[in-house]
This record gives sequence, structure tokens and C-alpha cells, in this order.
Amino acid sequence: MSTETTRPAVTRHLLKHPSGAWVRAGAWLVLIVCSAGSFAGAAAWKGTLDHAESAATRSAADSGTAVVSSALAVDDRLVDQLAALFVTRPDMSNLEFAEWGNAAKLAERFPGGVGYGFIARVPASDVPSFASARAHDPVIGLTSSEPFTVFPATVKAEYCLQRLGMWQTTEIQGFVVPAGLDFCASDLGGVRSPLPPLLEAATDSGLPTVLPPSQLQPGVFAVYLPLYRGGVTPPTLEARRAESIGWATGSFQSAALTKDALKGVRGLAVRVTHGRSVGGAAVVVSSAGTAGTGSTTPLVSTVTTDSGWRIDVMGVLTDNGASSEMQALAIVAAGVIVGSLLFVFLRVLGSSRERALDLVEERTGDLEFQALHDSLTGLPNRALIIDRANAMLARAERGNVPVAAMFVDLDDFKSINDTLGHGAGDEVLKSVASRFGSALRASDTVGRIGGDEFVILLEGSSLKAGPEMVAQRVLDVLREPFMLGGELRQIAASIGIAAGPRSTSDEWLRDADIALYEAKAAGKNGYVVFESEMQQTVEIRVALEHDLYFALEEGQFLLHYQPRFDLRTSQTTGVEGLLRWQHPTAGLVMPDEFLPAAERSGLIVPIGRWVLAEACRQGADWNRRGNAITMSVNVSPRQLEHDDFVDDVRTALVESGLEPGHLMLEITEAALMRDASTVVPRLEALKALGVRLAIDDFGSEYSSMAHLRQFPVDVIKIDRSCVAGISDSNDAAVLVRTLVQFGKALGLETVAEGIEDDSQLDSLLRERCDTGQGFLYARPLAPADLETFLGIPSESALCRAETSQHSW
Ligand code: C2E
Ligand code: CA
Ligand code: CA
Repeated sequence: MSTETTRPAVTRHLLKHPSGAWVRAGAWLVLIVCSAGSFAGAAAWKGTLDHAESAATRSAADSGTAVVSSALAVDDRLVDQLAALFVTRPDMSNLEFAEWGNAAKLAERFPGGVGYGFIARVPASDVPSFASARAHDPVIGLTSSEPFTVFPATVKAEYCLQRLGMWQTTEIQGFVVPAGLDFCASDLGGVRSPLPPLLEAATDSGLPTVLPPSQLQPGVFAVYLPLYRGGVTPPTLEARRAESIGWATGSFQSAALTKDALKGVRGLAVRVTHGRSVGGAAVVVSSAGTAGTGSTTPLVSTVTTDSGWRIDVMGVLTDNGASSEMQALAIVAAGVIVGSLLFVFLRVLGSSRERALDLVEERTGDLEFQALHDSLTGLPNRALIIDRANAMLARAERGNVPVAAMFVDLDDFKSINDTLGHGAGDEVLKSVASRFGSALRASDTVGRIGGDEFVILLEGSSLKAGPEMVAQRVLDVLREPFMLGGELRQIAASIGIAAGPRSTSDEWLRDADIALYEAKAAGKNGYVVFESEMQQTVEIRVALEHDLYFALEEGQFLLHYQPRFDLRTSQTTGVEGLLRWQHPTAGLVMPDEFLPAAERSGLIVPIGRWVLAEACRQGADWNRRGNAITMSVNVSPRQLEHDDFVDDVRTALVESGLEPGHLMLEITEAALMRDASTVVPRLEALKALGVRLAIDDFGSEYSSMAHLRQFPVDVIKIDRSCVAGISDSNDAAVLVRTLVQFGKALGLETVAEGIEDDSQLDSLLRERCDTGQGFLYARPLAPADLETFLGIPSESALCRAETSQHSW
């Protein structure tokens, strides 16, 4: 694969018209000045300094500034991307914005990020329509349930309101940001806001401004980038004011910026300032380390960036043991060498432009390479990939050459990072990058565009056998196990293919990305070729996720309950809560139709939290009314993975008053198998609360019984598919017998699911299964129907009974 760099346009431009004689004269001048200068400098140095910095200190300082400036470049780029997004997709909803954030892996890529948003200028006359739009499309993370009102409610011609956002925390100075906060108001109910002048300065200058940490939120700084109609910054101040539509904003943790800058280095301090902040001044945005004790700590290394950042590393320099004479000599030598190099260079320049150009290109080549390549794998980065994609599309248009773009994403890469550490993750990425080489031709391009995402661009003869063949080759080379932390691990990938050209590189990569999404949804470890209907599928999916969000907000979910009974006595021993969606137009929707979308979008976490609370409330109520039944609740893999899950269960128990022993959590085998090292302690914490745990759908896919021993569970629920064939297939009967005996051996209760007829019941009784549920006994029932089924006296009957008892 090719990794050559494009020619540096800037240097070529500078060298366009050098006049030979002039340059040659200049060369002599430079030599003289450099030599003289170095002698003078050496003398001064020798006279004033006894100590010089050690090479190690200097390089630590330089790498410190490099670490911070690349972190800042990443933050800057993010805010730029947001600006482009807001300008190009003005109608985007908050949910779509969150979806974009998910797809862009914001949380992974910007670990210090606190929130992102778009603050729009809203004329007073548009406030009512803005408010009603927000009622249906609230900013993600604003928890307030208050109706949307502008705050503070001053009468103004225009307000600055949050149109899009996703926030981790929306508290500033102790109060929760209301949805209708006017960012241009200077008095926020007693708190003076530093924002209005900052926003104005951004608009006027066309450049980002920065709010230093602790002005509104402790430890968090924010960047505001002005947005203009049409997405271009107008050239004049008047036009900038007239065309301003608002600001893109990103908030970041100040400490995250510098925490890695001087890792393990003592005696140095790093300080990050931004030149455009409150009052037009430069302010400190982040700092770390302490630089000795001296009152004047010298600057060791400093870097300034185009976007207004300045990074300084200061420190007391340590003695490197060399005598001052030696150093003075070194300075003279260095001065003369630099002068001579420049002399030669300028001479060459004067005589041969071409050769000079080569010389410069060689020198700048390294820098250029770094700017266009990923530092971990050495592969082209996003910028270079886009460049190549554009070139390829142009060639495809001219010459009718076949082309294809592929998006490759490793499956479950996060679990490698989580279980083996980031070092191992980096190793995997490097090995993957080098394996691509053996699956591709030298003329193909492969690049890394983020995290575990790679792009492959194919052209011409590489596609003779079709892009599917190439994708298959890539999957094959990745399938070979990797040596990680002393053991062999298998890593799979999913691939999305956009075959044929598109009118823009954006469109091309977007289609490949959509196909990748499909490949993941189809079960990973495979490839999918983009088809135009997929675009629509994506839209439908987004709409469904959108609807689910409101279903939760507007209380459209409900639970039905299916009884579980003792196979011998037919007594009801418990009920299982099953989720239903009362859709405003489609009627009652079953979980299979919407749970996958809820799972994918992560909405299952808040939905599951609601299920838990509602089931506990109902269970406590029935128990209070004299029915000692166990309430079963299904737990999704995403919920179990969530750190707050144990707390959610505790809260549901405390708030409902349900006895912990009356709550049973049903977890599928697949969820348990995801990552045993985190699941086992979590299950133990749940057991410590006193709740019961069941393995759901047992026997459906994994049934790795040896593994199951490590999980502290009380119940196994034998999957419906095993029960279905029990009375007419010997294999099914043997499987059920094995599962029941396995349960008995571990002292677990065994439950059979989906019992539909008497012959199945008879077989299960023969196999000595304990309990069961199924249509034979009862279907899932609405709460009132379940009460009738169980003969639970209605609430009002209970009241009457109590009153009559009292009056007795
Ligand atoms: P599941 O946990 O295996 O739940 C049992 C499913 O089997 C229910 O389907 C139930 O209606 C159905 N069923 C019960 N008896 C019979 C029978 O005799 N014959 C047949 N053919 N089916 C029977 P439902 O309610 O459609 O739920 C489907 C799945 O959705 C559940 O499977 C569960 O995995 C999931 N689910 C339901 N509610 C929730 C929830 O609140 N949270 C989570 N995470 N998942 C849920
Ligand atoms: Ca279940
Ligand atoms: Ca089940």
C-alpha cells in the first residue's frame, strides 16, 4: 500500500521566484551573521550561566508541549466538526445529534469531553415555536422536567438558546441549567455570566473564544466557535454580525488536557493559555506539575497554535555536568553549523531551484508525514484518506475505472482495551494495520481514521474479482489468532463496502459506513455491500429510536405479567414482568419489535430502569395484598454492563418496599458470557442485596455448563425451543433431562418456559423439572386480569373488607 506524501504546496509557493544573485549575496550575509552571532551568544551564555538544561529535561518538556498541543488539536478539530455539522444539517434533532455522537464515538475519542452543543440566536418572535419544538426534541442531558421557558425572562429582541446539545452534567454553580437558558444574558439569577462578551467577541472576530475553568463550572473550560449562515466566515465585521446564527460549543475537563503531558517528569510545569478569553485577555486553561521553587522559572519549551492556544513548559534546568567552556564551544559550533547549512542551502537555492526544492521537501517530508499519518500505525489518517478518495473519484470519473471504498471496524475491540489494557489494544491495532498489507495490493490505500476504524480504497485491477473478494481476504488475514498478553486471541472485524464511485468522498464514506452498520447488525464478522434501501433503513431506525425516547418520556410503556407455577401442585409461585408498548397509533407493540432498537441505541438502560421500578412497585403491592409471589424482571446485557445497575436495583427495592427475596432478575446466558471478569463481581453485589438470580433462555445457544458454575445463580430457565420438541423428539427430551439434572446437581431451581400442551407438561414432570410457565397455564396478562386470575381481591374490595372489620 502506498504511503507517499503529497508535495508541500506552501514551500513550493515560497520558492517561486528567487532571484539568483540576490539569494547568493544573502547566503554570504547569513553565514557571516550566524557565525558572528554564535560567538557573541556563546560569550554571553558562558558569562551568565553555570547550569544548562540536560538533554533529557528539554526533550521531556518538548514532548510535554507536543502531547498537549495534539490534545488541543483534537479538541479544536472536534469543535470544527460540530460547526460543520450544525451548518450542514440545520434540521437535525437532538436524538440524531446524539446518534451522530455515538457513531463518532465521542466518549471514546474525547475522554475529557463534558458536553457539546449548538447555541442558536433566536429572535423574540420565534421563541414560541422554538419552545414547542424543544418540548418534542429536548436537549440530551437536560434533566429538568419543567416546561420550556426562557430564563432569565427579560424582554429582549433576541435570545441565545440551546438548540442542540448532549451534556454529561448540566449544573453550573449549583443550579441546573434550565432548557430555556439565555446564554446572552449577563445576570443568571444572581450569578454573573461571563459569557455574553465572549460570545460577542467570537462573532466579531470569526475566531473561537475560550471560557476558562471554574468561571461557570469547576474544572471545566469551554470553547465557543462562531457560526455563520452558509458556513463561511464573512470578511467584514458588519457582515459577520449580520450573518451570525450562533455558536458551536464544546466543554472539556481542564485537568484531562495536561495530565499526561509531564508523566513521570519532575521539576517541570506545563501551562496552557488561550489568547482570546474573558476581557480579551489570555487566561490559563489548564496546568500541571510544579516547576522548582525559584521566583523566575525559565521557559523550557513553548508552542503556539493557529487557534489561539499557547503551551508553555517551565522548569529549573538541571546541571548536565558539562563545563561552561564546553557549552560555549558547542554554541559556537552549532551557530557555525547552522550558518553553514543555511549558506549551502541558499547557495543551492540561488543556483538550482529544483535541487533546493528537493532539499526542502526532504526536510519538511518528516513533518508532512506526521501531519497526514496516524502516529500509532503509520497508516494515512483521515485527512489523507479524504484526499486520496477525492483523487480516486476524479480518476474514476475521467477514466471509467472501477473503484470501491470499504469501512473496516474491529468487533468488540473495546473488550480488549477493557480486559487487557490500552497497551494491548495498541498492539492489536498495529498488528491489524500490518496484516492489511498481506491482503491488499501495493496500489490500494488503507488508512486509520479513528479508534478501531480503518478505511480501504480500491481501484482498477484490484477489483477484478469484485470488492467482496477483497473484503473476504481482509477477514481471512484478521482471523489468524493474535498473540496478546501471552495468550492467543481471535479478533474479528465487520466491513461495509461502497462499490462504485459517488459524487463526493463524504457520500462515498458515508455509504460504506451505513453498510458497516448493517454488517454489525447482521451479527458481525462479515461484510455487507451498500444498497440504496439501506439509507432508508437507517432513517426508519432513527425514527424508531426517536419514538422510543418519547414513549419513555410520555409513559407509553406498560408491563404484562405471566404467572409461573409449580408443576406438581399447580400453585402460582411467581410472575414474570414482560414489557409492552402502548403505541398511540399502532396499538400494543411486542418487545421483539422494539427491544433491538432500544438495545442498540442504549435506551434500554433508562427503559430497563423503569421496568425494574414498575415491577417492584407492583410486586410489593401484590405481596402487601396477601400474595407471596416472586416478581421476575428481565435484564438486558447493556443494563448489566452499566455501572449503576446495582444501585438501580437497590433503589427500586427501597422505594417500593419489596422484599429483596421476592425479586428475581433474569439474565440471558449471552449476557453472562460477554465479559465474565466484570459480570461475576456484579452478580455477587446483586446477591449481597438478597435478590434471586436466574439464567434465562438456558439451552438456547451457549450452554457452556462448565462456565456457568462460576456464576452465583439460583434458577435456570430452560428455553422454549428445548421444551417445544420434548414430547415428540427424543433428542429434545434428552437435552431437557441433561439441563434439569445439571440444575439439580448445582442445587438450582429449574423452570421450563413455553409449556403449551399437556404432553409437554407430562414429559417435564417425568424429568422432575420444578416449575414452569406457558400458554397452557396462562398467557401474559394485564395487571387487572392477573389479579382476577389469581383471585387477588381488588384494592377497593380490600378497603371495604378492612372498613367492615373495623366497624365490626
Ligand atoms: P423471555 O424472557 O424468554 O420471555 C418469555 C417470552 O415467551 C414472552 O414473550 C412470553 O410471552 C413468551 N411465552 C410465554 N409462554 C409462552 C408459550 O407457551 N408459548 C410461546 N410461544 N411463547 C410463550 P414476549 O413477552 O414477547 O417477550 C419476548 C422477549 O422480550 C422476552 O423473552 C425477553 O427476552 C424480552 N423482554 C420482555 N420484557 C422485557 C423487559 O422488560 N426487559 C428486557 N430486557 N427484556 C424483555
Ligand atoms: Ca425472561
Ligand atoms: Ca426466556
